[in-house]
Amino acid sequence: MVENRVKVKNNKLNEQIEQFKNSLSDIDKYEKAAVYNTDGTVFLKERAGTINEVIFTPNEYMQMRGKILVHSHINTGDLTDKILSPEDLFTAAYFGMKGIQAITKSSVSAFSPGIVLIGNTGMRNQFINDYENILYDGKKRVAALAENAKEIDKVIFQTAKKMSDYLKSNERKYGYKYEERGVFD
Ligand SMILES: [Zn+2]
Repeated sequence: MVENRVKVKNNKLNEQIEQFKNSLSDIDKYEKAAVYNTDGTVFLKERAGTINEVIFTPNEYMQMRGKILVHSHINTGDLTDKILSPEDLFTAAYFGMKGIQAITKSSVSAFSPGIVLIGNTGMRNQFINDYENILYDGKKRVAALAENAKEIDKVIFQTAKKMSDYLKSNERKYGYKYEERGVFD
């Protein structure tokens, strides 16, 4: 178990991610993203996007094979605020990235340390479809709750937790490492 985490805990990369986190003063307004090499050096420096995405050019995406994409999720109250989105998984798998990390907020005042998926080359479409279906089920449940805010929050948390459990339980099958740092503590 410890061995498997060595690559995730690359010191220089972690330092870069810390710096990235510290730069997120506008986390409530828009997402940010940066791309790193596995040794922790910067491949594409940090840039800002919109409320739910950061734009890279097709050419930049093509060069992300084997790289690590780090990005923030802003606190919109949406189902994927707390967790890697299906689009995140798809993008990482499609472009053959080594890893993807979402830095999220676990509460209004504190950054959660983030969610990491690394070594995802074995992922298949079915894996992402199944993951997306958990999200859709959650969305249906939220829609059915009309404006019951308390219940909606509960379903959002439950759904994010289910997605997280799904990522944890499929590590071996699809050949990746998934790690959460404080998100569901
Ligand atoms: Zn994301």
